Amino acid sequence: MSVIEVKHLTKRYGKHLAVDDLSFSVEEGEIYGFLGPNGAGKSTTMNILTGCLAATSGEATINGFDIFEEPKEAKKCIGYLPEIPPVYGSRTVREYLQFVAEAKKVPAENIESEIQRTMGLTGTKEYENRLIRHLSKGYRQRVGIAEALIGDPKVIILDEPTVGLDPQQIVEIRELIASLKGGHTVILSSHILSEVQSVCEKVIIIDHGRIVALDTPENLEKTFRQSTSIHAVLECEPERAREFVEAHFSGLPLKGIDVGTSESGSLLKFTLGDVDEKELARSLFFAAADERIAILSMETKRLSLEEVFLKLTGEKTAPAEMQQEKEFIPEEPEIPENGGEAR
Ligand code: ADP
Repeated sequence: MSVIEVKHLTKRYGKHLAVDDLSFSVEEGEIYGFLGPNGAGKSTTMNILTGCLAATSGEATINGFDIFEEPKEAKKCIGYLPEIPPVYGSRTVREYLQFVAEAKKVPAENIESEIQRTMGLTGTKEYENRLIRHLSKGYRQRVGIAEALIGDPKVIILDEPTVGLDPQQIVEIRELIASLKGGHTVILSSHILSEVQSVCEKVIIIDHGRIVALDTPENLEKTFRQSTSIHAVLECEPERAREFVEAHFSGLPLKGIDVGTSESGSLLKFTLGDVDEKELARSLFFAAADERIAILSMETKRLSLEEVFLKLTGEKTAPAEMQQEKEFIPEEPEIPENGGEAR
């Protein structure tokens, strides 16, 4: 049985269709990535699955419980990290997790061990007596994940867990998420392809509230890789370049070869298809050397997330907010030891 089952889920805000007939299922112990640009409908879907928002139509079950008919039972199976975690800055980490454990109705005799377990998993123990508002953003995010883990729910839903973190924190949070694999069923959302690829077993790409791709990262990567191209400028006339291509590359399973002109010679564009990128670069180098044609430049062009979306959605312009990686804004330094103690 699938732990998460979503059928024809739809959400309208007035006339605006935020989630459009989504259907998917997640098996026990899997990590699913929800990938899409800002405004794609990721948070809306997650808010519906966690019982924070009503759907317009459709069905969703968590561990067999209908989120609309049996919301209490369904919610008990979920730990949720919303995009903006509601962690209270005026409490210490320990006080906050105690409060969360009580709210989640963890039996009193298990609360201490649950706090210890989740602080251990998220690496927050050394700051247990620090006020949350005095933690760095990375550590606040860890506290939010600890909150989601309290009570050991079967399903963990994380909305953009690494947004706004610095590169080191991103690596740490990704490792933390990967460590949940097997013990928990996880859905995480992101607008960053590489993030989803590195931790998820399946990727759901959504755009304008619709699923535009659902596959393993390996298969998606294969699709993207096939569209990778190598652009090389050769110091010769286009006519000679065409003969060169015909003599050396016509037998390869390339997806396409284009010969054009550039300021300093001919511009060759090879779209990889089933040819290995390094192999092609090597062949190009040696073939040009044999023919005594100078290669003036060579570069690899990979599809950006925007271009992948454009290909998948057939649109002409990418959503304005979409970026490969969001700009990193350094955060304020942590308060030195004792500076953040509660008492
Ligand atoms: P994502 O999480 O992928 O960035 P959201 O689920 O937040 O996307 O938003 C999906 C769409 O629904 C967007 O077009 C957004 O503007 C719209 N939307 C989200 N929340 C509301 C709301 N409360 N009222 C009206 N429109 C909303």
